[in-house]
Amino acid sequence: MTITTINYKLLPFCLCKSDPSIDTTTMSNVATKVAVVGGGISGAVCASTLAKNGISVTLFESARGPGGRMSQRREISEDGKELLFDHGAPFFSASNSDVLRLVHEWESKGLVEEWKENCGSFDCISKKFLDIEQEAPNKKYVGIPGMNSICKALCNETGVESKFGVSIGRLECLDDEKWSLTGLDGQNLGRFSGVVVSDKGIASPRFTDVTGRPPPLDLSLTPELALKLQDIPVSPCFALMLAFSEPLSSISVKGFSFKNSEILSWSHCDSSKPGRSTASERWVLHSTANYARGIIAQTGLQKPSSATLTKVAEELFQEFQSIGLNIPRPFFMKAHRWGSAFPTASIAREQKCLWDRKKRLAICGDFCVSPNVEGAILSGLAAASKLTEMLSCL
Ligand SMILES: Cc1cc2nc3c(=O)[nH]c(=O)nc-3n(C[C@H](O)[C@H](O)[C@H](O)COP(=O)(O)OP(=O)(O)OC[C@H]3O[C@@H](n4cnc5c(N)ncnc54)[C@H](O)[C@@H]3O)c2cc1C
Repeated sequence: MTITTINYKLLPFCLCKSDPSIDTTTMSNVATKVAVVGGGISGAVCASTLAKNGISVTLFESARGPGGRMSQRREISEDGKELLFDHGAPFFSASNSDVLRLVHEWESKGLVEEWKENCGSFDCISKKFLDIEQEAPNKKYVGIPGMNSICKALCNETGVESKFGVSIGRLECLDDEKWSLTGLDGQNLGRFSGVVVSDKGIASPRFTDVTGRPPPLDLSLTPELALKLQDIPVSPCFALMLAFSEPLSSISVKGFSFKNSEILSWSHCDSSKPGRSTASERWVLHSTANYARGIIAQTGLQKPSSATLTKVAEELFQEFQSIGLNIPRPFFMKAHRWGSAFPTASIAREQKCLWDRKKRLAICGDFCVSPNVEGAILSGLAAASKLTEMLSCL
């Protein structure tokens, strides 16, 4: 599937935009507009692919910036040092040729580099490192200078208008085959000829559990898709961000999984990735899903309190220290909760996205294909392909 080709029916719109003699205000009023909800990697890939095909896109993201689960977190230490952490996906790999083509394009633009450090696993019973990879089966890619750099660049591409800090509260399908979008604050966000939603929460009862409001997408509009979207199981995870003034020289690898730990599943040295500051040594630890589930069972799905995050931070750090590698106290430590870190089911492995042609509605995200960046990219590409094909027939 190659869908980065220009759609010639829509090409005049692209040409007009770059021709200063043509009134682009009038053009953009008549051009086909698509709304993309979510600026994670699936939404960002979808938006930029649609724009490359001459379709005008407005992307709405509820967070202050792009990235979703590929975000980078900016923290300030007590003594005023800026500390950056990839607190979601630490890296990604790819084997699909369409995804690799995009990754190589991003590499050539300096948005992505290979992280060449060896990773391994640590057995908490024998207290030994095992399986240290000499040559990784798949390359480990990271965004430069942060994991969010790819989404940032895609959201800024010509033809994509990105609106951050805007949560979609309502998606309405009107009689004239248009969609009307309303913000969570009641603001009218305009009409669109098609919609791509890149978060399963948009039609899930979980949205109500977290916000106390009905899900933005009325499930009765698309009963077939609604069935698939309901109750997609997820695994939660806590991430712990740590900054040390000295390198952790007792650890021989820069990334490792934990065997036989009830609490920790993964840890990596974030400052060892290319393009990162090495003024301090920064590590990110991930909890096991079971540990995170236990905490959520006690505290609920709402945003965790700072007392909960402090307790979690202490417990994760104690487990890290207990592995016997002489780990000193960090000068910065903070936990973050990912309530839906990983979907544990894939609902559209073949089609790679959900698609309602009549309503011009595509739903994409990692939960369609596989719970990783590659799955999310494939799903975003598939959603763009469906809309491009459909809109070019109008
Ligand atoms: C801790 C952790 C570790 C991971 N490790 C790896 C790894 O090693 N390798 C790997 O490949 N993958 C990893 N992943 C998974 C990877 O990050 C995801 O698969 C991928 O980023 C999902 O992208 P997405 O676009 O499908 O979803 P998301 O990134 O979740 O994007 C959805 C976006 O939609 C926005 N949104 C939702 N509702 C609304 C609304 N109503 N209005 C506006 N915006 C809205 C959200 O804010 C979000 O930004 C990890 C994830 C986590 C959390």
